[in-house]
Amino acid sequence: MKRFDCGSLVPGCHWHTRADEDAEVVRRTVEHMKTAHGETVIRETMIDHIKQRIRDDVQAA
Ligand SMILES: [Zn+2]
Repeated sequence: MKRFDCGSLVPGCHWHTRADEDAEVVRRTVEHMKTAHGETVIRETMIDHIKQRIRDDVQAA
């Protein structure tokens, strides 16, 4: 499992997501950015920032 904590990108946000694939984590995070943080345009740099912060979720192994 892969895990992304929004707080690593948006300080103070406690949202996180987990998925088997990086791509799915990114997809869910992009949805979260749009709905929770009002991001209408998701830039390539933001995708990179998300990918850089995806971690292996050892608890779910
Ligand atoms: Zn967030």
